[in-house]
Formats: sequence, structure tokens, C-alpha cells
Amino acid sequence: MEQVNTKKPLVGLSREELAAAVAPLGVEPFRAKQLYHWIYVRGVTDFALMTTFSKTLREDLANQFVVQRPAISEAQKSVDGTQKWLLAMPDAQKVEMVHIPSVTRDIGALCISSQVGCTLTCRFCHTGTQRLVRNLEADEIVGQVMLARDQLGDWTAQSQDRLLNNVVFMGMGEPLYNYENVAKAIKMLMDPDGISISKRRITLSTSGVVPMMQRCGEELGVNLAISLHATNDELRNHIMPLNKKYPIKELMEACRNYPGLSNSRRITFEYVMLKGVNDSMNDAKALVKLLAGIPSKINLIPFNAWPGSAFECSDDDVIEGFGDYLNNAGYVSPIRRPRGRDILAACGQLKSASMRLSVTERAAIAELQREKDLAQGLA
Ligand code: SAH
Ligand code: SF4
Repeated sequence: MEQVNTKKPLVGLSREELAAAVAPLGVEPFRAKQLYHWIYVRGVTDFALMTTFSKTLREDLANQFVVQRPAISEAQKSVDGTQKWLLAMPDAQKVEMVHIPSVTRDIGALCISSQVGCTLTCRFCHTGTQRLVRNLEADEIVGQVMLARDQLGDWTAQSQDRLLNNVVFMGMGEPLYNYENVAKAIKMLMDPDGISISKRRITLSTSGVVPMMQRCGEELGVNLAISLHATNDELRNHIMPLNKKYPIKELMEACRNYPGLSNSRRITFEYVMLKGVNDSMNDAKALVKLLAGIPSKINLIPFNAWPGSAFECSDDDVIEGFGDYLNNAGYVSPIRRPRGRDILAACGQLKSASMRLSVTERAAIAELQREKDLAQGLA
């Protein structure tokens, strides 16, 4: 008979949960604290290397527990240094993670996923076409960051030397639809006695789940990015069906009330440039009007086309003209330069290479989208 792995996973347990899990082995609280340090500060996965413990304890721990990571199913590196990993979770579900290294005047970031697929169906986003959707558990979210540190050899570095200096929830999924697990994971990422990434270096991107925004700001205090992409309800309803539930006025109100907002702590508004759809000068003007009074930054994102997508990216000169208008109106609005294009590492293209779809599969996805819309009352 095949042997079933019954070892209990430790990553994802809070400090208290970890102490409780190992207490039956006679591990005292101060030893549990050391174990937490080995796991989250030193990045050690092999109990044999936890040299502050007796040999017996190391063996006992190894017999019953495992310091797990998501498995790497595929890894790719771009000519510009961007790396992309397809990660396999224990149930074989896959998500992607991307590391964009820092280069001059461009801050690097680790882009992580919060769900397998997404229940929302933004028309320009490839993730929204995926059939399988489930929430990632806290350990699967924290585990992405830990795995990235393994891969980058980033555990021993002093914080100012670390290669991984920003985490953004801009991979697959809507983080505010998986709030409990995302919040637990973010608290672990921010723990100064653990992974210790400052809340100022963590950005949660949401398509606008209005009722969860206040809580996110109060409990986590991370940077907020809003996927806005349109300045009127008619267009936003069309390209982001969630807008029918939480229209622009309510979204802007929730942004104005986001806790801790100030000129040094701005909300980032993401705006994907779709040719002939949202890229006119009138759109730029409407955007400036809409954001008046909200401390904000605007990120113009060139649309990344994927096979079967219904949109095209705006022309370069149009994007530049749009950006100039925003700059003249006083907005910091960098155009997010595409990185890792050769390995399809950009937003909205995640998992596309691993999902080659047949015509029947596409039809099944279209059907599922309709079901998802109906279930949410968005159709
Ligand atoms: N669900 C969250 C976070 C993941 S999407 C959200 O929607 O904010 C991360 C960002 O990528 C969002 O701003 C999203 O609108 C953008 N995006 C999705 N598909 C894209 C595409 N094909 N080209 C460019 N940006 C895209
Ligand atoms: Fe989901 Fe974000 Fe993609 Fe919309 S843009 S489908 S919310 S992942």
C-alpha cells in the first residue's frame, strides 16, 4: 500500500498555533520561539540543521512535522532578470509567482497569488477565464514568499541588501475575496520577529471589493492599489462586472475613507490602457476629476494581450500623451514598463503558457463565466 504522508505542516501556523502544535513533544514556549525563528528568520526547512535543539528533539520534530513550501512545477528566467515560477500546491492546483528584480529607478517586486483562478471575470484578464477556483490557504500565500527567498538566496541578507524588497498581491485572484487567509498571511509577512517585511512594502491590489476595504486598512495597514481602469460606470460595468455591485461612487468613497491615507501614503490607481476603449484625452480628464482630493498615484499599465482576448493595447504615443496629461495635472503616473515579456511574466498573462485551451475548453469556460456572473447577480 502506498504510504500516506501524515507529517503535519508547520508553515502558516501563527506563533501561538506553532507553540501549541509542538507542545505535545514537550517543547517549551522558549523553544517554540526558537523554532519560529529557524523557520521564518533563517528559512531553514531541515530540522537536522536546527542546531539549538537536542538531537532527539530534532529527530522527533522531523518524524512528525514538515516545514513545507509550494512545489515548483516550472521555472523561467527572462533576459531582463525577471523570474516566473509555476507553483504546484499539495492538491496539484497551480498558481504563478513572478519576481521582478530592482533596476535603477524601478523598484523590484515579488508578485504573488491569493487564489487559484478568480471568481471575477474582468474582460481583459486571463485569470478570470480559469475554470478552477479556490482560495489559497495562509501557508500557501506565505509559502510563496518563503520559496522566493529560497530561490533568490535571500535569507541571510540584511534587510537593506535583500533582493526581495516588495510584495504585491497582483498575481492570480482577488485578495479581498479571500480576506481571512490573506490577512493571516500578511500578518505573518509583517511580523518583526519573523519574515519582517514592512507594511509599507506590501501592496494589496483589489478590483474594488468595497465592503472589505476599511477592514483591510484598519487591520493590516498595507498599501492599497485599486484596479480602476475606467472612469464611468457604463464602461466599468462592461469591463469589470463587479462594478455593478460596487459602482465607482461607492468605490471612491471607500478610497477617501481608507485608514491612514495621506500625501505620504497614497492609494495607487491602476489603469490598463485599452486601445479605443479607455485611452482618450477625455478619459484622462475624467480620471483627474474623479481622483480629485484623494491622495493618489496612477499606474498606467500597457494592456498585455493574451490568446483570445478581445482588446488591444493602446499605441505608445497615446499612452505617453495620456501619461503627460496626468503628470501635468500633478499626478505621479509612471507607465509600468513591461518586464519579462519574453517569458509572458506580465499581469493578466499568468498561467497562460500552462493553459493551452482547445475550442471545447474555451466554450466550457465561456459557459462557466456566464454561470459565475449569474451566481453573483452580475449578468
Ligand atoms: N484581483 C486583483 C489583483 C490581481 S490582478 C485586482 O484585480 O486588482 C493585478 C492587476 O493586473 C490588476 O490591476 C489587473 O486589472 C491587471 N491586469 C489583469 N489583466 C491584465 C492584462 N491583460 N494586462 C494588463 N493588466 C492586467
Ligand atoms: Fe480577478 Fe483581478 Fe483578474 Fe479581475 S483583474 S479577473 S479581479 S484577477
